[in-house]
Amino acid sequence: MNTLMSDIKITRTKTTKIHDVDFDNLNFGRTFSDHMLVCDYKDGKWQSPEIVPYQPIVLDPSAKIFHYGQSVFEGMKAYKDANDSVWLFRPLENFKRLNISSKRLAIPELPEDIFMEGLKALLKVDSNWIPKKEGSSLYIRPFIFASGNGFHASPADQYKFVIALAPSGAYFSGKVKVLIEETYSRSANGGVGFAKAGGNYAGQFYPTQLAVEKGYQQVIWTDDTNHEYIEEAGAMNIFIRINDTLITGPTSDRILDGITRKSIIDIAKREGIPVEVRKITVSEVVNAAKDGSLKEMFGAGTAAVVSPISGFGYKGIDYDLPELKDTYATFIKKYITDIQTNKSDDPFGWRVKM
Ligand code: PMP
Repeated sequence: MNTLMSDIKITRTKTTKIHDVDFDNLNFGRTFSDHMLVCDYKDGKWQSPEIVPYQPIVLDPSAKIFHYGQSVFEGMKAYKDANDSVWLFRPLENFKRLNISSKRLAIPELPEDIFMEGLKALLKVDSNWIPKKEGSSLYIRPFIFASGNGFHASPADQYKFVIALAPSGAYFSGKVKVLIEETYSRSANGGVGFAKAGGNYAGQFYPTQLAVEKGYQQVIWTDDTNHEYIEEAGAMNIFIRINDTLITGPTSDRILDGITRKSIIDIAKREGIPVEVRKITVSEVVNAAKDGSLKEMFGAGTAAVVSPISGFGYKGIDYDLPELKDTYATFIKKYITDIQTNKSDDPFGWRVKM
């Protein structure tokens, strides 16, 4: 059965919360819209999705999500342009990645129509919640978790797919100082680092807390074998500019295949920015910082788009990055947000009208 937007049952809230929200001063991911999409998996198949008022989810204490962490999620954004048209950025990529993550966590894959038609219907119901202010957007959080019961350590027989919406302002303010990790790892070969699995983020919190105590805002993850290669920046992919060349590591078992990352690679190629996808060692970055050829480092991800790094710590020494006037980070951030918000042409066909 194919789900169409018109098939989706909608129960509207009786009391909107929208008048309590200050759209000029939005935080990130702490204010939620009036409705959510829910869809259950049971009896061996995904059931019909529904839109209901945003509300708590009741679970049995033995629900497997609590014990065995079977959960995956996505992060995407909707934008409203000057004419009130609503746009998404490469949404099929999020859908495909959700299923890649699910497969690794033994969660049943979700049909495309439930994801896409469900999202469209939800955005229509809550379209007033999509902010228009520059830098703001509606953050979209699709997620799936094991709602089935039992203490047996095996995959659940029931799951819940939910889409929740959070009108949000800018994610990071200012440049961040990062610590190159020498002890902990966020992922390993053969592990789940390439999946957007909830547990990956739980495992990052403690090392990040230690870095924050030392005066840094984020951790640069290195490979789990010898902490020799640069892998990711917090919950973002990382780009490093040495002289005029932009470098990012290849995706692997350990690195999330970020949609922003692959968009930046395509933009760089089109715009004549030399770009290399190759392994990059910590010592190459430290040496480039010492000889002045290290020009920029930035994280890349949906939430912040591009998050510039002001400096890094490694083996007890702090290295500052130069204050450049024209940065790749600024150019790329504008390039992507102009496409996302329908302010420029879209040579790649990435923008999707809802
Ligand atoms: N790496 C990790 C670990 C992430 O959680 C994210 C955010 N989804 C990214 C990279 C960036 O991915 P994307 O550009 O698709 O948001």
